[in-house]
Amino acid sequence: MKDLARNLRRPSGRADLPSLEERLGLLLLVRLGLVLAVLLATGLASKQTGLTFLQAAVPSGVFMAVTVAAELIGRVGRRAALAAHRTMLPLDAIYLVIMTVPAGGPRSQLMVLFYLHLVAVTLLGSARSALRIALWDSFLFTLVPILGLASRVGQLLGVADVQSPLAADTALAIMGFWAIAFCTAGFSMVSERELRRNRNELEALAVMTAALEAASDADTARRLLLAHTVGALGFKRGVLIVPGGSSLVAAQAAPGEPAAISEAPDVRFPPSADSTVQRAQGEHGVLALSHLDRQGDPFTSALLPDARNVVVTAVGAGPEAPVLIVEHGGRLVGERLARRTMLMVGQFASHGMLTLAGIQALADQERLAAVDGLTALANRRQFDATLTREVAVARRRNEPLTLVLIDIDHFKAVNDTAGHLAGDEVLRNLARALRGVCREMDLVARYGGEEFALVLPSCDAEAALSVLARADRAIRAEPALQGITISSGVATLVEHAEDDAGLIAAADRALYASKRAGRDRATVAAPVISTRGRSSR
Ligand code: GH3
Ligand code: MG
Ligand code: MG
Repeated sequence: MKDLARNLRRPSGRADLPSLEERLGLLLLVRLGLVLAVLLATGLASKQTGLTFLQAAVPSGVFMAVTVAAELIGRVGRRAALAAHRTMLPLDAIYLVIMTVPAGGPRSQLMVLFYLHLVAVTLLGSARSALRIALWDSFLFTLVPILGLASRVGQLLGVADVQSPLAADTALAIMGFWAIAFCTAGFSMVSERELRRNRNELEALAVMTAALEAASDADTARRLLLAHTVGALGFKRGVLIVPGGSSLVAAQAAPGEPAAISEAPDVRFPPSADSTVQRAQGEHGVLALSHLDRQGDPFTSALLPDARNVVVTAVGAGPEAPVLIVEHGGRLVGERLARRTMLMVGQFASHGMLTLAGIQALADQERLAAVDGLTALANRRQFDATLTREVAVARRRNEPLTLVLIDIDHFKAVNDTAGHLAGDEVLRNLARALRGVCREMDLVARYGGEEFALVLPSCDAEAALSVLARADRAIRAEPALQGITISSGVATLVEHAEDDAGLIAAADRALYASKRAGRDRATVAAPVISTRGRSSR
Protein backbone atom coordinates (compact mmCIF):
# COMPACT_ATOMS: atom_id res chain seq x y z
CA MET A 1 0.00 0.00 0.00
CA LYS A 2 2.91 2.35 0.71
CA ASP A 3 4.11 2.16 -2.86
CA LEU A 4 0.66 2.94 -4.09
CA ALA A 5 0.46 5.93 -1.82
CA ARG A 6 3.73 7.19 -3.21
CA ASN A 7 2.54 6.68 -6.76
CA LEU A 8 -0.70 8.45 -6.10
CA ARG A 9 0.97 11.56 -4.74
CA ARG A 10 0.82 14.41 -7.18
CA PRO A 11 4.03 15.07 -9.01
CA SER A 12 4.37 18.85 -8.86
CA GLY A 13 5.96 21.06 -11.50
CA ARG A 14 5.08 22.01 -15.02
CA ALA A 15 5.42 18.68 -16.75
CA ASP A 16 2.02 19.19 -18.39
CA LEU A 17 3.05 22.45 -20.13
CA PRO A 18 4.72 22.52 -23.55
CA SER A 19 8.49 22.10 -23.37
CA LEU A 20 10.83 25.07 -23.06
CA GLU A 21 12.06 24.58 -26.64
CA GLU A 22 8.52 24.61 -27.91
CA ARG A 23 7.66 27.77 -26.01
CA LEU A 24 10.80 29.59 -27.11
CA GLY A 25 10.10 28.56 -30.70
CA LEU A 26 6.61 30.01 -30.48
CA LEU A 27 7.97 33.26 -29.03
CA LEU A 28 10.34 33.50 -31.98
CA LEU A 29 7.31 33.25 -34.25
CA VAL A 30 5.59 35.99 -32.25
CA ARG A 31 8.63 38.22 -32.73
CA LEU A 32 8.62 37.58 -36.48
CA GLY A 33 4.91 38.38 -36.50
CA LEU A 34 5.51 41.69 -34.69
CA VAL A 35 8.12 42.75 -37.24
CA LEU A 36 5.95 41.69 -40.18
CA ALA A 37 2.97 43.56 -38.72
CA VAL A 38 5.07 46.72 -38.28
CA LEU A 39 6.42 46.52 -41.83
CA LEU A 40 2.99 45.81 -43.27
CA ALA A 41 1.34 48.63 -41.32
CA THR A 42 4.02 51.16 -42.21
CA GLY A 43 3.95 50.03 -45.83
CA LEU A 44 0.15 50.25 -46.14
CA ALA A 45 -0.74 53.04 -43.72
CA SER A 46 2.28 55.21 -43.12
CA LYS A 47 0.08 58.16 -42.19
CA GLN A 48 -1.54 56.39 -39.26
CA THR A 49 1.69 54.81 -38.08
CA GLY A 50 3.67 58.05 -38.49
CA LEU A 51 6.43 56.03 -40.16
CA THR A 52 7.21 55.09 -43.73
CA PHE A 53 8.17 51.55 -44.63
CA LEU A 54 11.78 52.61 -45.13
CA GLN A 55 11.92 54.43 -41.80
CA ALA A 56 10.63 51.28 -40.07
CA ALA A 57 12.83 48.94 -42.09
CA VAL A 58 16.16 49.87 -40.49
CA PRO A 59 15.22 49.40 -36.80
CA SER A 60 13.17 46.32 -37.78
CA GLY A 61 16.22 44.88 -39.55
CA VAL A 62 18.40 45.54 -36.51
CA PHE A 63 15.80 43.96 -34.23
CA MET A 64 15.54 40.89 -36.50
CA ALA A 65 19.33 40.56 -36.54
CA VAL A 66 19.44 40.65 -32.73
CA THR A 67 16.61 38.09 -32.60
CA VAL A 68 18.44 35.73 -34.95
CA ALA A 69 21.66 36.16 -32.96
CA ALA A 70 19.79 35.36 -29.72
CA GLU A 71 18.25 32.31 -31.37
CA LEU A 72 21.68 31.05 -32.44
CA ILE A 73 23.15 31.63 -28.98
CA GLY A 74 20.15 29.83 -27.50
CA ARG A 75 20.98 26.69 -29.49
CA VAL A 76 24.17 26.19 -27.42
CA GLY A 77 22.22 24.78 -24.49
CA ARG A 78 19.32 25.16 -22.14
CA ARG A 79 20.99 27.80 -20.00
CA ALA A 80 22.01 29.88 -23.00
CA ALA A 81 18.48 29.59 -24.38
CA LEU A 82 17.01 30.89 -21.12
CA ALA A 83 19.53 33.75 -20.95
CA ALA A 84 18.82 34.74 -24.56
CA HIS A 85 15.09 34.62 -23.84
CA ARG A 86 15.45 36.87 -20.78
CA THR A 87 17.47 39.39 -22.79
CA MET A 88 15.06 39.43 -25.71
CA LEU A 89 11.88 40.13 -23.73
CA PRO A 90 12.87 43.72 -22.72
CA LEU A 91 14.26 44.32 -26.24
CA ASP A 92 10.87 43.41 -27.74
CA ALA A 93 9.29 46.22 -25.78
CA ILE A 94 12.04 48.72 -26.71
CA TYR A 95 11.54 47.88 -30.40
CA LEU A 96 7.80 48.40 -30.06
CA VAL A 97 8.26 51.70 -28.18
CA ILE A 98 10.49 52.98 -31.00
CA MET A 99 7.88 51.92 -33.56
CA THR A 100 4.96 53.57 -31.73
CA VAL A 101 6.55 56.85 -30.65
CA PRO A 102 6.23 58.62 -34.07
CA ALA A 103 2.42 58.17 -34.06
CA GLY A 104 2.03 59.60 -30.55
CA GLY A 105 3.09 56.62 -28.38
CA PRO A 106 -0.05 55.35 -26.61
CA ARG A 107 -2.17 56.79 -29.43
CA SER A 108 -0.38 54.79 -32.12
CA GLN A 109 -2.33 52.27 -34.12
CA LEU A 110 0.52 49.84 -33.37
CA MET A 111 -0.31 49.78 -29.63
CA VAL A 112 -2.19 46.55 -30.24
CA LEU A 113 1.23 44.88 -30.78
CA PHE A 114 2.14 45.60 -27.12
CA TYR A 115 -1.02 43.84 -26.00
CA LEU A 116 -0.42 40.90 -28.29
CA HIS A 117 3.13 40.59 -27.01
CA LEU A 118 1.96 40.70 -23.42
CA VAL A 119 -0.70 38.02 -23.98
CA ALA A 120 1.75 35.76 -25.86
CA VAL A 121 4.42 36.05 -23.17
CA THR A 122 1.87 35.32 -20.44
CA LEU A 123 0.41 32.25 -22.15
CA LEU A 124 3.79 30.85 -23.15
CA GLY A 125 5.57 31.81 -19.96
CA SER A 126 4.03 32.30 -16.58
CA ALA A 127 2.03 34.73 -14.50
CA ARG A 128 5.33 36.07 -13.18
CA SER A 129 6.65 36.92 -16.64
CA ALA A 130 3.33 38.66 -17.41
CA LEU A 131 3.80 40.97 -14.45
CA ARG A 132 7.45 41.56 -15.32
CA ILE A 133 6.56 42.58 -18.88
CA ALA A 134 3.67 44.79 -17.71
CA LEU A 135 6.09 46.49 -15.30
CA TRP A 136 8.73 46.97 -18.02
CA ASP A 137 6.22 48.32 -20.55
CA SER A 138 4.87 50.73 -17.93
CA PHE A 139 8.41 51.80 -17.06
CA LEU A 140 9.27 52.53 -20.72
CA PHE A 141 6.01 54.44 -21.25
CA THR A 142 6.72 56.60 -18.20
CA LEU A 143 10.33 57.16 -19.22
CA VAL A 144 9.52 58.47 -22.73
CA PRO A 145 7.69 61.67 -21.61
CA ILE A 146 9.86 62.23 -18.53
CA LEU A 147 13.13 62.15 -20.45
CA GLY A 148 11.60 63.71 -23.55
CA LEU A 149 12.69 60.72 -25.58
CA ALA A 150 9.94 61.10 -28.22
CA SER A 151 11.60 63.76 -30.30
CA ARG A 152 15.00 62.09 -29.99
CA VAL A 153 13.61 58.81 -31.28
CA GLY A 154 11.92 60.84 -34.05
CA GLN A 155 15.24 62.34 -35.03
CA LEU A 156 16.88 58.92 -35.03
CA LEU A 157 14.20 57.56 -37.36
CA GLY A 158 14.18 60.66 -39.52
CA VAL A 159 10.62 61.67 -38.54
CA ALA A 160 10.06 65.36 -37.87
CA ASP A 161 7.79 66.90 -35.23
CA VAL A 162 7.25 63.96 -32.94
CA GLN A 163 5.15 65.04 -29.96
CA SER A 164 5.66 63.78 -26.44
CA PRO A 165 2.65 61.66 -25.41
CA LEU A 166 0.01 63.13 -23.11
CA ALA A 167 0.11 62.03 -19.50
CA ALA A 168 -3.52 60.85 -19.65
CA ASP A 169 -2.81 58.65 -22.69
CA THR A 170 0.24 57.18 -21.00
CA ALA A 171 -1.76 56.44 -17.86
CA LEU A 172 -4.50 54.74 -19.88
CA ALA A 173 -1.97 52.61 -21.76
CA ILE A 174 -0.31 51.54 -18.50
CA MET A 175 -3.69 50.62 -17.03
CA GLY A 176 -4.32 48.57 -20.17
CA PHE A 177 -1.03 46.68 -19.70
CA TRP A 178 -1.90 45.74 -16.15
CA ALA A 179 -5.47 44.77 -16.94
CA ILE A 180 -4.31 42.50 -19.74
CA ALA A 181 -1.52 41.01 -17.64
CA PHE A 182 -3.82 40.20 -14.72
CA CYS A 183 -6.67 38.86 -16.84
CA THR A 184 -4.50 36.69 -19.08
CA ALA A 185 -2.48 35.34 -16.16
CA GLY A 186 -5.60 34.64 -14.13
CA PHE A 187 -7.50 32.88 -16.92
CA SER A 188 -4.51 30.81 -17.96
CA MET A 189 -4.00 29.75 -14.34
CA VAL A 190 -7.59 28.51 -14.21
CA SER A 191 -7.28 26.48 -17.40
CA GLU A 192 -3.87 25.22 -16.35
CA ARG A 193 -5.31 24.02 -13.06
CA GLU A 194 -8.07 22.25 -14.95
CA LEU A 195 -5.54 20.61 -17.27
CA ARG A 196 -3.43 19.54 -14.33
CA ARG A 197 -6.48 18.08 -12.63
CA ASN A 198 -7.34 16.09 -15.74
CA ARG A 199 -3.80 14.85 -15.99
CA ASN A 200 -3.70 13.90 -12.31
CA GLU A 201 -6.93 11.95 -12.64
CA LEU A 202 -5.65 10.09 -15.67
CA GLU A 203 -2.44 9.37 -13.80
CA ALA A 204 -4.41 8.08 -10.83
CA LEU A 205 -6.34 5.83 -13.20
CA ALA A 206 -3.07 4.48 -14.60
CA VAL A 207 -1.74 3.89 -11.07
CA MET A 208 -4.89 1.98 -10.14
CA THR A 209 -4.76 -0.08 -13.34
CA ALA A 210 -1.16 -1.03 -12.58
CA ALA A 211 -2.13 -2.03 -9.04
CA LEU A 212 -5.11 -4.01 -10.34
CA GLU A 213 -2.90 -5.92 -12.76
CA ALA A 214 -1.03 -7.35 -9.80
CA ALA A 215 -4.24 -8.36 -7.98
CA SER A 216 -4.67 -12.12 -8.11
CA ASP A 217 -8.00 -12.47 -6.33
CA ALA A 218 -11.34 -10.71 -6.51
CA ASP A 219 -11.27 -9.43 -2.92
CA THR A 220 -7.93 -7.65 -3.45
CA ALA A 221 -9.15 -6.19 -6.74
CA ARG A 222 -12.33 -4.90 -5.11
CA ARG A 223 -10.37 -3.33 -2.24
CA LEU A 224 -7.98 -1.62 -4.67
CA LEU A 225 -10.84 -0.31 -6.78
CA LEU A 226 -12.61 1.23 -3.79
CA ALA A 227 -9.43 2.58 -2.16
CA HIS A 228 -8.23 4.24 -5.35
CA THR A 229 -11.58 5.66 -6.43
CA VAL A 230 -12.19 7.28 -3.05
CA GLY A 231 -8.57 8.38 -2.57
CA ALA A 232 -7.59 9.61 -6.01
CA LEU A 233 -10.83 11.40 -6.87
CA GLY A 234 -11.08 13.16 -3.52
CA PHE A 235 -14.19 11.48 -2.13
CA LYS A 236 -14.92 11.49 1.59
CA ARG A 237 -16.20 7.97 1.99
CA GLY A 238 -17.31 5.07 -0.13
CA VAL A 239 -18.70 1.56 -0.10
CA LEU A 240 -18.48 -1.31 -2.48
CA ILE A 241 -21.61 -3.39 -2.19
CA VAL A 242 -20.79 -7.02 -2.93
CA PRO A 243 -23.95 -9.11 -3.40
CA GLY A 244 -23.47 -12.52 -1.80
CA GLY A 245 -20.14 -11.47 -0.26
CA SER A 246 -18.80 -9.06 2.29
CA SER A 247 -19.22 -5.44 1.28
CA LEU A 248 -16.36 -3.02 1.82
CA VAL A 249 -16.27 0.43 3.41
CA ALA A 250 -13.66 3.10 2.63
CA ALA A 251 -12.72 6.21 4.57
CA GLN A 252 -10.39 8.76 3.06
CA ALA A 253 -6.97 8.60 4.73
CA ALA A 254 -5.34 11.73 3.26
CA PRO A 255 -6.25 13.53 0.04
CA GLY A 256 -4.67 11.84 -2.97
CA GLU A 257 -3.81 8.64 -1.10
CA PRO A 258 -5.66 5.32 -1.31
CA ALA A 259 -8.45 5.23 1.25
CA ALA A 260 -8.41 2.91 4.24
CA ILE A 261 -10.62 -0.13 3.60
CA SER A 262 -12.51 -2.22 6.11
CA GLU A 263 -15.06 -4.95 5.82
CA ALA A 264 -18.64 -3.75 6.23
CA PRO A 265 -20.22 -4.71 9.55
CA ASP A 266 -23.15 -7.10 9.27
CA VAL A 267 -26.25 -5.05 8.71
CA ARG A 268 -29.74 -6.48 8.86
CA PHE A 269 -30.69 -6.01 5.20
CA PRO A 270 -29.46 -7.77 2.10
CA PRO A 271 -27.98 -5.35 -0.46
CA SER A 272 -30.64 -6.39 -2.96
CA ALA A 273 -33.19 -4.60 -0.73
CA ASP A 274 -31.76 -1.22 -1.80
CA SER A 275 -33.43 0.54 -4.68
CA THR A 276 -30.25 2.47 -5.52
CA VAL A 277 -28.26 -0.77 -5.77
CA GLN A 278 -30.94 -2.27 -8.00
CA ARG A 279 -31.08 0.85 -10.15
CA ALA A 280 -27.30 0.93 -10.61
CA GLN A 281 -27.24 -2.76 -11.52
CA GLY A 282 -30.05 -2.34 -14.01
CA GLU A 283 -28.70 0.79 -15.66
CA HIS A 284 -25.56 1.35 -17.65
CA GLY A 285 -23.66 4.41 -16.58
CA VAL A 286 -23.20 6.44 -13.45
CA LEU A 287 -25.86 7.97 -11.20
CA ALA A 288 -25.51 11.09 -9.07
CA LEU A 289 -27.81 11.43 -6.06
CA SER A 290 -28.09 14.26 -3.56
CA HIS A 291 -28.54 11.78 -0.70
CA LEU A 292 -29.38 8.16 0.11
CA ASP A 293 -32.92 7.45 1.20
CA ARG A 294 -33.07 5.55 4.47
CA GLN A 295 -36.33 3.86 3.53
CA GLY A 296 -35.42 2.94 -0.03
CA ASP A 297 -31.77 2.14 0.69
CA PRO A 298 -31.67 0.60 4.16
CA PHE A 299 -28.44 -1.33 3.50
CA THR A 300 -26.36 1.43 1.97
CA SER A 301 -27.61 4.15 4.31
CA ALA A 302 -26.62 1.95 7.24
CA LEU A 303 -23.10 1.70 5.77
CA LEU A 304 -22.88 5.40 4.78
CA PRO A 305 -25.02 7.23 7.30
CA ASP A 306 -26.11 10.77 6.27
CA ALA A 307 -24.24 10.59 2.97
CA ARG A 308 -24.54 13.74 0.82
CA ASN A 309 -23.93 13.96 -2.93
CA VAL A 310 -23.15 10.39 -3.83
CA VAL A 311 -22.01 8.95 -7.12
CA VAL A 312 -23.20 5.40 -7.82
CA THR A 313 -22.21 2.89 -10.48
CA ALA A 314 -22.35 -0.86 -10.93
CA VAL A 315 -19.07 -2.67 -11.51
CA GLY A 316 -20.49 -4.99 -14.16
CA ALA A 317 -24.04 -5.89 -15.03
CA GLY A 318 -26.86 -7.86 -13.47
CA PRO A 319 -27.89 -8.58 -9.88
CA GLU A 320 -24.53 -10.17 -9.06
CA ALA A 321 -22.55 -7.05 -9.98
CA PRO A 322 -20.85 -5.14 -7.16
CA VAL A 323 -22.01 -1.54 -6.80
CA LEU A 324 -19.63 1.32 -6.08
CA ILE A 325 -21.05 4.22 -4.06
CA VAL A 326 -18.80 7.16 -3.24
CA GLU A 327 -19.68 10.26 -1.25
CA HIS A 328 -18.54 13.65 -2.43
CA GLY A 329 -20.10 15.39 0.56
CA GLY A 330 -20.65 19.13 0.99
CA ARG A 331 -21.98 21.16 -1.90
CA LEU A 332 -21.05 20.41 -5.47
CA VAL A 333 -19.39 23.31 -7.27
CA GLY A 334 -21.56 23.49 -10.37
CA GLU A 335 -22.97 20.71 -12.49
CA ARG A 336 -19.89 20.47 -14.69
CA LEU A 337 -17.74 19.15 -11.87
CA ALA A 338 -20.38 16.59 -11.04
CA ARG A 339 -20.49 15.34 -14.62
CA ARG A 340 -16.71 15.17 -14.83
CA THR A 341 -16.45 13.39 -11.52
CA MET A 342 -19.11 10.94 -12.64
CA LEU A 343 -17.18 10.29 -15.81
CA MET A 344 -14.03 9.50 -13.83
CA VAL A 345 -15.91 7.24 -11.41
CA GLY A 346 -17.28 5.44 -14.48
CA GLN A 347 -13.74 5.03 -15.82
CA PHE A 348 -12.43 3.67 -12.52
CA ALA A 349 -15.38 1.27 -12.30
CA SER A 350 -14.85 0.00 -15.88
CA HIS A 351 -11.22 -0.76 -15.18
CA GLY A 352 -12.22 -2.51 -11.96
CA MET A 353 -14.85 -4.47 -13.84
CA LEU A 354 -12.36 -5.64 -16.47
CA THR A 355 -9.97 -6.84 -13.80
CA LEU A 356 -12.72 -8.62 -11.87
CA ALA A 357 -13.97 -10.26 -15.07
CA GLY A 358 -10.43 -11.46 -15.83
CA ILE A 359 -10.00 -12.88 -12.33
CA GLN A 360 -13.41 -14.57 -12.55
CA ALA A 361 -12.57 -16.07 -15.95
CA LEU A 362 -9.31 -17.43 -14.58
CA ALA A 363 -11.08 -18.87 -11.52
CA ASP A 364 -13.73 -20.47 -13.78
CA GLN A 365 -11.01 -21.93 -15.93
CA GLU A 366 -9.17 -23.32 -12.92
CA ARG A 367 -12.40 -24.75 -11.50
CA LEU A 368 -13.30 -26.34 -14.82
CA ALA A 369 -9.84 -27.83 -15.06
CA ALA A 370 -10.31 -29.42 -11.63
CA VAL A 371 -13.92 -30.57 -11.85
CA ASP A 372 -15.50 -33.54 -13.60
CA GLY A 373 -18.15 -32.34 -16.04
CA LEU A 374 -20.66 -35.14 -15.46
CA THR A 375 -20.67 -35.49 -11.70
CA ALA A 376 -19.22 -32.10 -10.61
CA LEU A 377 -16.86 -34.06 -8.35
CA ALA A 378 -13.11 -33.42 -8.35
CA ASN A 379 -11.53 -34.87 -11.48
CA ARG A 380 -8.53 -37.11 -11.78
CA ARG A 381 -6.17 -34.13 -11.99
CA GLN A 382 -7.39 -32.62 -8.75
CA PHE A 383 -7.41 -36.08 -7.14
CA ASP A 384 -3.73 -36.60 -7.99
CA ALA A 385 -2.73 -33.17 -6.66
CA THR A 386 -4.81 -33.54 -3.48
CA LEU A 387 -3.55 -37.03 -2.72
CA THR A 388 0.10 -35.94 -3.04
CA ARG A 389 -0.54 -32.92 -0.79
CA GLU A 390 -2.52 -34.87 1.83
CA VAL A 391 0.11 -37.62 1.97
CA ALA A 392 2.76 -34.97 2.72
CA VAL A 393 0.56 -33.37 5.41
CA ALA A 394 -0.30 -36.72 7.00
CA ARG A 395 3.35 -37.79 7.11
CA ARG A 396 4.41 -34.49 8.66
CA ARG A 397 1.69 -34.65 11.32
CA ASN A 398 2.14 -38.37 11.75
CA GLU A 399 -1.56 -38.92 11.19
CA PRO A 400 -3.34 -41.68 9.24
CA LEU A 401 -4.67 -40.99 5.75
CA THR A 402 -6.96 -43.43 3.98
CA LEU A 403 -7.62 -43.83 0.29
CA VAL A 404 -10.71 -45.69 -0.92
CA LEU A 405 -11.13 -46.75 -4.56
CA ILE A 406 -14.70 -47.60 -5.54
CA ASP A 407 -15.93 -49.36 -8.71
CA ILE A 408 -19.58 -49.90 -9.67
CA ASP A 409 -20.43 -53.57 -10.10
CA HIS A 410 -21.54 -54.76 -13.53
CA PHE A 411 -21.99 -51.20 -14.69
CA LYS A 412 -21.66 -52.23 -18.31
CA ALA A 413 -24.91 -54.11 -17.90
CA VAL A 414 -26.66 -50.91 -16.73
CA ASN A 415 -25.56 -49.17 -19.91
CA ASP A 416 -26.45 -52.14 -22.05
CA THR A 417 -29.96 -52.54 -20.65
CA ALA A 418 -31.06 -49.01 -19.68
CA GLY A 419 -28.87 -47.00 -22.07
CA HIS A 420 -25.95 -44.66 -21.56
CA LEU A 421 -28.07 -41.70 -20.44
CA ALA A 422 -29.52 -43.79 -17.61
CA GLY A 423 -25.94 -44.92 -16.86
CA ASP A 424 -24.90 -41.27 -16.60
CA GLU A 425 -27.77 -40.63 -14.21
CA VAL A 426 -26.55 -43.49 -12.00
CA LEU A 427 -23.05 -41.97 -11.98
CA ARG A 428 -24.47 -38.56 -10.96
CA ASN A 429 -26.61 -40.04 -8.19
CA LEU A 430 -23.82 -42.17 -6.84
CA ALA A 431 -21.55 -39.10 -6.82
CA ARG A 432 -24.16 -37.22 -4.75
CA ALA A 433 -24.56 -40.17 -2.36
CA LEU A 434 -20.79 -40.42 -1.82
CA ARG A 435 -20.49 -36.66 -1.25
CA GLY A 436 -23.31 -36.93 1.28
CA VAL A 437 -21.54 -39.47 3.47
CA CYS A 438 -18.17 -37.70 3.52
CA ARG A 439 -16.93 -34.77 5.61
CA GLU A 440 -16.22 -31.33 4.15
CA MET A 441 -12.47 -31.94 4.43
CA ASP A 442 -12.62 -35.27 2.51
CA LEU A 443 -12.03 -35.34 -1.21
CA VAL A 444 -14.55 -37.23 -3.33
CA ALA A 445 -13.29 -37.65 -6.89
CA ARG A 446 -14.24 -39.39 -10.10
CA TYR A 447 -11.20 -41.54 -10.64
CA GLY A 448 -12.17 -43.01 -14.01
CA GLY A 449 -15.28 -44.07 -15.98
CA GLU A 450 -17.35 -45.72 -13.25
CA GLU A 451 -14.65 -45.55 -10.60
CA PHE A 452 -14.55 -43.14 -7.69
CA ALA A 453 -11.95 -42.30 -5.06
CA LEU A 454 -12.21 -40.97 -1.53
CA VAL A 455 -9.25 -39.27 0.15
CA LEU A 456 -9.97 -39.29 3.88
CA PRO A 457 -7.48 -37.30 6.01
CA SER A 458 -7.06 -38.30 9.70
CA CYS A 459 -9.00 -41.52 9.00
CA ASP A 460 -7.86 -45.08 9.53
CA ALA A 461 -9.13 -48.11 7.60
CA GLU A 462 -11.80 -48.84 10.19
CA ALA A 463 -13.27 -45.33 9.93
CA ALA A 464 -13.17 -45.67 6.12
CA LEU A 465 -15.16 -48.93 6.37
CA SER A 466 -17.85 -47.15 8.33
CA VAL A 467 -17.96 -44.42 5.68
CA LEU A 468 -18.48 -47.18 3.08
CA ALA A 469 -21.21 -48.75 5.21
CA ARG A 470 -22.98 -45.38 5.26
CA ALA A 471 -22.51 -45.15 1.49
CA ASP A 472 -24.15 -48.58 1.05
CA ARG A 473 -27.13 -47.44 3.10
CA ALA A 474 -27.38 -44.20 1.10
CA ILE A 475 -27.34 -46.18 -2.18
CA ARG A 476 -30.09 -48.49 -0.99
CA ALA A 477 -32.15 -45.51 0.17
CA GLU A 478 -31.87 -43.74 -3.21
CA PRO A 479 -34.64 -44.82 -5.64
CA ALA A 480 -32.48 -43.92 -8.65
CA LEU A 481 -29.78 -46.34 -7.47
CA GLN A 482 -31.90 -49.44 -6.99
CA GLY A 483 -30.00 -52.58 -7.91
CA ILE A 484 -26.65 -50.79 -7.88
CA THR A 485 -23.81 -52.16 -5.75
CA ILE A 486 -20.23 -51.08 -5.38
CA SER A 487 -16.94 -52.78 -4.64
CA SER A 488 -14.17 -50.96 -2.79
CA GLY A 489 -10.54 -51.21 -1.84
CA VAL A 490 -9.20 -49.43 1.25
CA ALA A 491 -5.55 -48.52 1.91
CA THR A 492 -4.15 -46.47 4.78
CA LEU A 493 -0.91 -44.54 5.19
CA VAL A 494 1.55 -45.82 6.59
CA GLU A 495 0.01 -49.18 7.38
CA HIS A 496 -0.47 -50.26 3.75
CA ALA A 497 1.78 -47.91 1.80
CA GLU A 498 4.35 -45.18 2.33
CA ASP A 499 3.53 -42.77 -0.48
CA ASP A 500 0.73 -41.76 -2.88
CA ALA A 501 1.63 -44.20 -5.65
CA GLY A 502 1.88 -47.01 -3.09
CA LEU A 503 -1.54 -46.07 -1.66
CA ILE A 504 -3.18 -46.22 -5.10
CA ALA A 505 -1.57 -49.55 -5.88
CA ALA A 506 -2.59 -51.01 -2.52
CA ALA A 507 -6.19 -49.74 -2.78
CA ASP A 508 -6.40 -51.04 -6.37
CA ARG A 509 -5.26 -54.50 -5.32
CA ALA A 510 -7.79 -54.48 -2.47
CA LEU A 511 -10.54 -53.39 -4.92
CA TYR A 512 -9.78 -56.33 -7.22
CA ALA A 513 -9.79 -58.62 -4.24
CA SER A 514 -13.36 -57.38 -3.56
CA LYS A 515 -14.31 -58.08 -7.18
CA ARG A 516 -12.82 -61.53 -7.10
CA ALA A 517 -14.52 -62.33 -3.83
CA GLY A 518 -17.94 -61.74 -5.47
CA ARG A 519 -18.37 -57.91 -5.54
CA ASP A 520 -20.65 -55.67 -3.34
CA ARG A 521 -18.04 -55.49 -0.59
CA ALA A 522 -15.02 -53.60 0.74
CA THR A 523 -11.56 -55.03 1.26
CA VAL A 524 -8.77 -53.50 3.33
CA ALA A 525 -5.30 -53.78 1.78
CA ALA A 526 -2.78 -56.22 3.15
CA PRO A 527 -0.25 -54.64 5.58
CA VAL A 528 3.20 -53.83 4.25
CA ILE A 529 5.74 -56.30 5.50
CA SER A 530 8.82 -54.37 6.50
CA THR A 531 11.99 -55.72 4.95
CA ARG A 532 14.15 -53.22 6.78
CA GLY A 533 15.07 -55.65 9.56
CA ARG A 534 16.28 -58.26 7.09
CA SER A 535 18.26 -55.99 4.80
CA SER A 536 20.12 -54.13 7.54
CA ARG A 537 22.56 -55.72 9.85
P1 GH3 B 1 -17.24 -54.86 -12.97
O1 GH3 B 1 -18.21 -55.28 -11.97
O2 GH3 B 1 -16.20 -55.91 -13.25
O3 GH3 B 1 -16.64 -53.56 -12.67
O4 GH3 B 1 -18.04 -54.75 -14.33
P2 GH3 B 1 -18.30 -53.45 -15.13
O5 GH3 B 1 -19.30 -53.75 -16.18
O6 GH3 B 1 -18.66 -52.36 -14.21
O7 GH3 B 1 -16.89 -53.16 -15.71
P3 GH3 B 1 -16.35 -52.71 -17.10
O8 GH3 B 1 -15.01 -52.10 -16.87
O9 GH3 B 1 -16.41 -53.88 -18.04
O10 GH3 B 1 -17.36 -51.64 -17.59
C1 GH3 B 1 -17.34 -50.32 -17.20
C2 GH3 B 1 -18.36 -49.59 -18.00
O11 GH3 B 1 -18.54 -48.30 -17.56
C3 GH3 B 1 -17.97 -49.55 -19.44
C4 GH3 B 1 -18.31 -48.16 -19.86
O12 GH3 B 1 -19.13 -48.11 -20.98
C5 GH3 B 1 -19.00 -47.59 -18.69
N1 GH3 B 1 -18.74 -46.20 -18.54
C6 GH3 B 1 -17.56 -45.61 -18.29
N2 GH3 B 1 -17.72 -44.25 -18.23
C7 GH3 B 1 -19.05 -44.02 -18.42
C8 GH3 B 1 -19.83 -42.83 -18.46
O13 GH3 B 1 -19.35 -41.72 -18.32
N3 GH3 B 1 -21.16 -42.96 -18.68
C9 GH3 B 1 -21.74 -44.17 -18.85
N4 GH3 B 1 -23.04 -44.22 -19.05
N5 GH3 B 1 -21.01 -45.29 -18.83
C10 GH3 B 1 -19.69 -45.24 -18.62
MG1 MG C 1 -14.14 -50.26 -13.79
MG1 MG D 1 -17.32 -51.77 -12.77
